[in-house]
Amino acid sequence: MKAVLNFIDGEFVATAREFEKRSPATGALVARVHEAGAAEVDAAVRAARAALRGPWARLTLQERTGLLHDVAAGIERRFDDFLAAEVADTGKPHGLARTVDVPRGAANFRVFADAVRNVPTALFETATPDGRGALNYTVRTPVGVVGVICPWNLPLLLLTWKVGPALACGNTVVVKPSEETPQTATLLGEVLNEAGVPRGVYNVVHGFGPGSAGELLTAHPGVDAITFTGETRTGAAIMKAAATGARPVSLEMGGKNAALVFADCDLAAAVEGTLRSAFLNCGQVCLGTERVYVERPLFARFVEALRAGAEALAPGDPANPATTLGPLISEEHRRKVLSYYARAVADGATVVTGGGVPAMPPEFAGGAWVQPTVWTGLADDSAVCREEIFGPCCHVAPFDDEDEAVARANDTPYGLAATVWTKDLARAHRVAARLEAGIVWVNAWYLRDLRTPFGGAKQSGIGREGGTYSLDFYTELKNVCIKL
Ligand code: NAD
Repeated sequence: MKAVLNFIDGEFVATAREFEKRSPATGALVARVHEAGAAEVDAAVRAARAALRGPWARLTLQERTGLLHDVAAGIERRFDDFLAAEVADTGKPHGLARTVDVPRGAANFRVFADAVRNVPTALFETATPDGRGALNYTVRTPVGVVGVICPWNLPLLLLTWKVGPALACGNTVVVKPSEETPQTATLLGEVLNEAGVPRGVYNVVHGFGPGSAGELLTAHPGVDAITFTGETRTGAAIMKAAATGARPVSLEMGGKNAALVFADCDLAAAVEGTLRSAFLNCGQVCLGTERVYVERPLFARFVEALRAGAEALAPGDPANPATTLGPLISEEHRRKVLSYYARAVADGATVVTGGGVPAMPPEFAGGAWVQPTVWTGLADDSAVCREEIFGPCCHVAPFDDEDEAVARANDTPYGLAATVWTKDLARAHRVAARLEAGIVWVNAWYLRDLRTPFGGAKQSGIGREGGTYSLDFYTELKNVCIKL
């Protein structure tokens, strides 16, 4: 049985406490994970602090970012190992992990290395308000030891999204991957060692949240800043932990994202985009669409096309290229998603398609499978329309005018992403401006330029990461003033 170890100060560290990692696709045991306790978390934070002052700090910017390019190349060299580990942990189809998760794992190191290399030189000022001359310049310094807490839905992608910029800026990190998806974080330790990244710069501690490695890490006084992706409730708990010591947080949290489909849209594109946004990764994407508002003249055709698309999805063996739908991450998460499936029916929804568990071949009978599901007929204030489900499902409702659509889309405590489908350019700009979300796509979904700001409004997040925006979190900006 595969053992997944912690990675501390360049070494793979076993512990006496283990927990099981089971395949979401089959329920079979895939690994035993070594849980970090207080001693290991403390050792990881100390290693990261020591590394902050060690050879890592003496590398030039070119050398440091050059190493990160080597890490990206290392991930690509071991592409199949990352692919196998990610698919074993998540059950997602190979086709998805091959085109999204693993390539992004490498891209996140390159993009942020280049962003930091190419940051414009500091702004020079030569006057004070009272007329005395002064030369001011700003320098960015690392913020220090960064605690990185990750979710399970896009494990390598979201981990490297934070580790890439943190290291590019000269910080050191202690990462706590999700207990559901531990493997690629440890594998990355091998790649960093191979690339020659100094020991202690990247550390991994495995375990759970409360009472385990997650809480131990966020409570550790040796951690200077905390970056988190996960549920809004967890983010709030982490913010509380960070208040001790007044440490900065960057929080990327949940969503209940809306798509607005206007009658003048390209119907085929809108249906295809909505299908992807509701069902990609079995609906376990923070940016995914769970609320769809369709202008009334198009409503019936749109619902019918969405039904046909959902029913054409093929759940099955992640290794089979024909598979287009994986399982949910765990039996526990399946229970949560199925409770919303039941709630929708209890609240009077029309189940357009799905609503249950698919019949699977015997080898996948132990997996966390659910049917892709489309509902209509619920009120906007029903739990299914207000709470993040994080499964392959969406509710579709008709609307009559633009103001109504915007108001209903914004009527949520979340504000991560929104999608607008229309051919009317003026409307696209008008609606995008009024939607309360960190990112608005027009006639597209999940089209990402990694240099753009990424984050959530309202309860979906605090702060923005991406390109040079990440620098604001991962560095301290220092002004130096010289009297002339
Ligand atoms: P989660 O909040 O349950 O767990 C995330 C991580 O936090 C895990 O590593 C977990 O062990 C850890 N954790 C839990 N409690 C903790 C505590 N008290 N202290 C420290 N660490 C703790 O989230 P999840 O179920 O893994 O992921 C799904 C959620 O993530 C969804 O809400 C989704 O919308 C969100 N998400 C957001 C983004 C984004 O960019 N905004 C991206 C992906 C996922």
